[in-house]
Amino acid sequence: MSGNREQETTGRDGAAASGIDEIVRAVAAGAVAPDHYLRDALRRIEASNRADKPLNAFLSLVDPDAATEKGGATDGAAGASGGDASADDGAGGAASESGLLRGVPLGIKDNIATLGLPTTCGSRILEGYHSPYEATVVRKLRAAGARIAGKTNMDEFAMGSSNENSAYGVVRNPHDRDRVPGGSSGGSAAAVAAGLVPGALGSETGGSVRQPASLCGIVGIKPTYGRVSRYGLVAFASSLDQVGTFGRTVRDASLLLQVISGHDTRDSTSARTDVPDFRAAAGGGDEGGDEAARPAGLKGLVVGVPTEYFPDSLDPEIRTLCKGALERMEAAGAILRPVSLPHTDLAIPSYYVIASAEASSNLARYDGVRYGVRAEGAASTHDVYEATRSHGFGLEVKRRIMLGTYALSSGYYEAYYGRAQKVRALIARDFRDVFARANGGGTSGDGEVDVLFTPTSPSTAFGIGERVDDPLQMYLSDLFTATANLAGVPAISVPVGAIEGLPVGGQFIAPKWGEAVMIRAATGLEAVLGEGGDR
Ligand code: GLN
Repeated sequence: MSGNREQETTGRDGAAASGIDEIVRAVAAGAVAPDHYLRDALRRIEASNRADKPLNAFLSLVDPDAATEKGGATDGAAGASGGDASADDGAGGAASESGLLRGVPLGIKDNIATLGLPTTCGSRILEGYHSPYEATVVRKLRAAGARIAGKTNMDEFAMGSSNENSAYGVVRNPHDRDRVPGGSSGGSAAAVAAGLVPGALGSETGGSVRQPASLCGIVGIKPTYGRVSRYGLVAFASSLDQVGTFGRTVRDASLLLQVISGHDTRDSTSARTDVPDFRAAAGGGDEGGDEAARPAGLKGLVVGVPTEYFPDSLDPEIRTLCKGALERMEAAGAILRPVSLPHTDLAIPSYYVIASAEASSNLARYDGVRYGVRAEGAASTHDVYEATRSHGFGLEVKRRIMLGTYALSSGYYEAYYGRAQKVRALIARDFRDVFARANGGGTSGDGEVDVLFTPTSPSTAFGIGERVDDPLQMYLSDLFTATANLAGVPAISVPVGAIEGLPVGGQFIAPKWGEAVMIRAATGLEAVLGEGGDR
């Protein structure tokens, strides 16, 4: 499936193709300089843009000479964000995690605030904007020893499924540079898939980590709503937004999740819930002999197969790959169970009402006064707002603001936003029902499942320009992913194969706070597919 990948994207023999554990071990052993992998990543990123079809995965890059390992404005800035004493477990969690990512270069989606690098959200309206504070997730990564290589390209304000809505140009899919990488976290996904960095952060509102992970052939995790702090993540739709992680393996994506998870006093929606050992759930490392914490593999795992996610209209090759993955899991001891989530087809309409409504409110702050760019030559305050927003926002953002404002307007609020919230509650109940029987203790009824397995995306990577004029078609990209955001449950996309060189992802969805069992399932699938060599 790597037939049409280019030189710098194969990366198998190069340093940036190393997994996170490998990098951390090499740095810890003193075998390489602490900034070796950062510099190597920066060289690869540069090379990825030299071609006539530049990957364009990054919007800004760190200056490695200005960055020192423990201090400096652009790196190791754990202590520089001010007022840290108030965050109860702000920097890196347990002591054993402090070196978990030492020397590992990472990409950060450009809607996550960083010190020393711009945070533009892929928008003209925030061109050159530098946040005065840093997101908790970035602070935690730095505290664990990670080196931020740069900020990744994205659909403007995370609205999109193809990265074509970026004000700074499209990102190309490393598997075929005439195709999109997916979105909205397209830059992060392409960077990891091309071997530029071993891991990256993205954000999810309706599928923006899992869908590009699927289209780029890597692993993407969307955690439970509340698992990860949103402090410093620029708001799109606050009741749905969540930071997620990318890696080339389940283990790498899980290691990043381990570091960024946990309660944060600066985000009232972050939960006071214990963070389980995701590394152990992913196995494969040298966490020691704690057998109890080791993944039990697929044996005995009950995997629900929801009929609504395998509709008659599903692309037959995607169906075949997903069914093949299910058969391999069954052969490895998993128990498959058909289930139903009856409100699935209402996810897209309710998602787009809720997301647009919340976006129209959140984006009111970009008025040319408080943040970023201001239009020149306006005669009145009202003109400043109008001119700044007309020039600063792109087409899709304007479409959402208009849709959302309409849905929230008096007289229509109940008919649209209110109704969509009721539908959302039904979708959340579908998940609770299907998982509740599993958690009920001893009620081993017919519906009992540990995780669900579905396709991640209804299509493989589509051509650049193919869907830009058809927003409804574009919105259907989130058909299988938006449900997990509406319900607040965790989900992961794992590569299950390829169609004519274009990757296909399968998705596990778990109950709230069930990331560990989800990671265990994904690790098991990765292993059985790896053995067969059909990835
Ligand atoms: N594609 C979806 C949208 O455009 C999801 C975006 C996201 O998850 N940030 O809203």
